[in-house]
Amino acid sequence: MTVAAILNEKGREVITERGGALLLQVCQTLGTNKIGAMVIVDAKGHIEGIISERDIVKAIGREGPDALNQPVSQIMTKSVVTCTEEETVNQVMQKMSSGRFRHVPVVKDKKLNGLISIGDVVKHRIAQVEMEAEHMRTYIAMT
Ligand code: AMP
Repeated sequence: MTVAAILNEKGREVITERGGALLLQVCQTLGTNKIGAMVIVDAKGHIEGIISERDIVKAIGREGPDALNQPVSQIMTKSVVTCTEEETVNQVMQKMSSGRFRHVPVVKDKKLNGLISIGDVVKHRIAQVEMEAEHMRTYIAMT
């Protein structure tokens, strides 16, 4: 299965923020939307970074509540691993596993065009395992 198949089901809209936004604002958006990470983009929609709950916890642990008044550009991860719609879900899983992160933005024509989270990958794997088990049951019943 490809990344495109997941995006066709979940949609391609991604909640983003600009690098100048304060960390507090990012926390509010993450909480309101019940998400764990946000992609930071420039005015043209090009990816500049990614910020996840882990970065926020680390920043507050290091600097205390003052961290919340800093621009997100100072805390985000700037070197972002992305994927394309044509990649397989297994390839994205490998990227998550080797990079030890749970979010992979999807890029098309150098612009953000969706986001795959570990939750999407797990959902896909469960559906795949259930389908394989069903095929196996049908095969056994026929023989
Ligand atoms: P996560 O597991 O997604 O909460 O992220 C763990 C750490 O990896 C945080 O420092 C994130 O900023 C960073 N991170 C998350 N997604 C990516 C990605 N696609 N590429 C690079 N770093 C990432």
